[in-house]
Amino acid sequence: MEANSESRTEISELGEFGLIKYLTKNFKLKNESSKIGIGDDAAVIDFKNMKSVITTDLLIEGIHFDLAYVPLKHLGYKSVVVNLSDVYAMNATPKQILISIAFSNRFSVEAIHDLYEGIYHACEQYGVDLIGGDTSNSTKGMLISVTAIGEVDEKKIVLRSTAAENDLICVSGDLGGAYLGLQILEREKRIFLENPSIQPNLEQQQYIVGRQLKPEARKDIIELLEKINVVPTSMIDISDGLSSELLHLCEDSKTGCTVYEEKIPMAEETYNQALKFNIDPVTCALSGGEDYELLFTIKQSDYEKVKDHPDISVIGHITHESMGKKLVTKGNQIHDLIAQGWNQFKK
Ligand code: ADP
Ligand code: MG
Repeated sequence: MEANSESRTEISELGEFGLIKYLTKNFKLKNESSKIGIGDDAAVIDFKNMKSVITTDLLIEGIHFDLAYVPLKHLGYKSVVVNLSDVYAMNATPKQILISIAFSNRFSVEAIHDLYEGIYHACEQYGVDLIGGDTSNSTKGMLISVTAIGEVDEKKIVLRSTAAENDLICVSGDLGGAYLGLQILEREKRIFLENPSIQPNLEQQQYIVGRQLKPEARKDIIELLEKINVVPTSMIDISDGLSSELLHLCEDSKTGCTVYEEKIPMAEETYNQALKFNIDPVTCALSGGEDYELLFTIKQSDYEKVKDHPDISVIGHITHESMGKKLVTKGNQIHDLIAQGWNQFKK
């Protein structure tokens, strides 16, 4: 893919410092809290009376992404977004990121620049500043590490471990799309490898392929909750599938839960594509990963504030730990929720 670029500049022509300068020249600091950014030995930030939250993710080519079907621009965008999603899941606002990359000489200056274009767009979209990072060679493939820093009023920090019995379980957006998007991309890759003259056919599946290639973090949901004056009692982002995250949340909160299959939000495209692949749509929603929606609990008394919002679904409630973690099917059968993260599910 990087060989497709019209011109190819070797990294050695710019050198490491030249490359960093080139990649970061358009990034301007936007936030008051970003005091010193790229260029010194370390960045300086100041959140005054707010608390800082910090999170980091490591993405490795061949394990977390496949450059056969992920354009580098999308990869840059997604690398940032998945990290910001963790900051939002603390009910915090991301303000700064640091990016460390390592790549082999297979990558040109143009390819790395594409990656940084995606990073730039994510910084613009979410109002965060790139304040530093590190650059290195790798013998094989590409590694990207993103660290995000956010601010939050101490009283509004939301943990995974603080859900309480009778709280309502809510989820943003819809689920299962990103997993099916990945299945489509992998299918098209197989077809392409078998017969390179066949062009991928993704037109019918734009929504779900988009959910995989260009996910968004739910900044809007955090802002909405603030606006309607709801502080969730617990929260986690859904990177690994609804059931797996729900189990985390309940285990950390020492509670049980009951969720209703019929209330789990799914887009029509996702539902139809699951049927085409002969996969149970609910399994996609429960176990498909990378949707980056927010799973949170609220007090029953906040129900009226969220109930009519199209982007929030109430899917069940928190129970006493002794009740276990249960899924009620459309046929009214009660099953144990099973931890089947998408990594296992993929096999
Ligand atoms: P050092 O030798 O102290 O690690 P570097 O030469 O690696 O410094 O980095 C110089 C400056 O550029 C620092 O501010 C660093 O944070 C920033 N930087 C280095 N690599 C990247 C990168 N890949 N993306 C963004 N900023 C970077
Ligand atoms: Mg360095």
